[in-house]
Amino acid sequence: SGSTSGNDKPRILLMGLRRSGKSSIQKVVFQKMSPHDTLFLESTNKIVKNDISNNSFVQFQIWDFPGQIDFFDSTFESDLIFGGCGALVFVIDAQDNCVEAISKLHQTVCQAYKVNPNIIFEVFIHKMDGISDDLKIQIQQDIQQRLQEELADHAQDNQIPQNIPIRYQLTSIYDHSIFEAFSKVIQKLIPQLPTLENLLDMLVSSSRLDKAFLFDVVSKIYIATDSAPVDNTTYELCSDMIDVVIDVSCIYGMKDQNDSFAYDEDSSSVIKLNNDTVLYLREVNKYLALVCLINKSNFDKIGLINYNFQCFKQAISQVFEVRDIIQAQQKQKKLL
Ligand code: GDP
Repeated sequence: SGSTSGNDKPRILLMGLRRSGKSSIQKVVFQKMSPHDTLFLESTNKIVKNDISNNSFVQFQIWDFPGQIDFFDSTFESDLIFGGCGALVFVIDAQDNCVEAISKLHQTVCQAYKVNPNIIFEVFIHKMDGISDDLKIQIQQDIQQRLQEELADHAQDNQIPQNIPIRYQLTSIYDHSIFEAFSKVIQKLIPQLPTLENLLDMLVSSSRLDKAFLFDVVSKIYIATDSAPVDNTTYELCSDMIDVVIDVSCIYGMKDQNDSFAYDEDSSSVIKLNNDTVLYLREVNKYLALVCLINKSNFDKIGLINYNFQCFKQAISQVFEVRDIIQAQQKQKKLL
């Protein structure tokens, strides 16, 4: 499948017109840059920029669309680009005139679909900060409608279906929306998601947790959560906890200067809030952490929680071991 070929990490392409916010998104989500510092990002002239975060569960590449990329140019290797990609995120600057962006998006969808009909299409209607709620809805409807019209008008010429599923999300680097949007993209690319969700549900019920998230530590994207609804405040609290833990451990937890990453098997943290809630973080593996919300009265049974967590952690590692075995087998089959 597109999401796994050649690599076991979910692969995402981030595309969009120049200045739509791609580098900022990448810097804020994967390199912890403060959103305000993106104001001074230099616009690069490079057409292709590969930014793969080695420390992250998510692997991901950015492709800029400075006007000159031309799909009909024979040097543009669509097969290579779209073939191995799981999801294509197209960023549209909502504060700018969207006509050019929509036309580029239309071309991109057509071209990508022809090469790889399994690609998941996502549109981030970006820079939504400072826009009123009414206007947000209007902008989204407008973009959605125009793109559908273009796709419908040209579907026959392009020999692609009219109704390619495209999801729209409203994002900004100035709040958590960009992290949530990415979380939803990633979740579609993880074939093991139902298993992970089941395991989280079991952990939540056996340990009487209120909510549990499985986070990619570097990006603070959550790759799975239990089936209780996600409440924004809870998600923000849990995601902020990762920052706190990593910051404290950068200052006090590094074994030596060469320790590049302040996160290992021993990483764990308890934060008691003044509303009878406890936040609890535990390391699951190199990339992932469990962050959960527990009522103070249930946190008294920490021994039980820790025991259940060990079982959970073991199960998660088995899920990924099985995945690795299957992938190795698939690779071998391809070679034969
Ligand atoms: P790229 O060419 O697509 O990589 O775009 P950049 O990442 O260089 O961003 C262009 C400009 O948009 C920068 O000045 C960013 O600070 C700004 N920007 C990016 N994301 C947001 C956002 O969510 N809200 C606002 N208001 N500005 C943003």
